[in-house]
Amino acid sequence: MEDRTLVCQDCGMDFIFTAGEQEFYKEKGFDNEPKRCKECRDRKKRDRGQYRPE
Ligand SMILES: [Zn+2]
Repeated sequence: MEDRTLVCQDCGMDFIFTAGEQEFYKEKGFDNEPKRCKECRDRKKRDRGQYRPE
């Protein structure tokens, strides 16, 4: 397997979907590719923790 370059849905930046990550996804049975770069995923995670509906 080879590293692949994907485009982040949120920020539009290229990010690397590494061979190791692809293995991990396959092991977990995920069919789809990640839609977001690591920065955006981390930000989402942080945002979720702080989300307060007004
Ligand atoms: Zn991003």
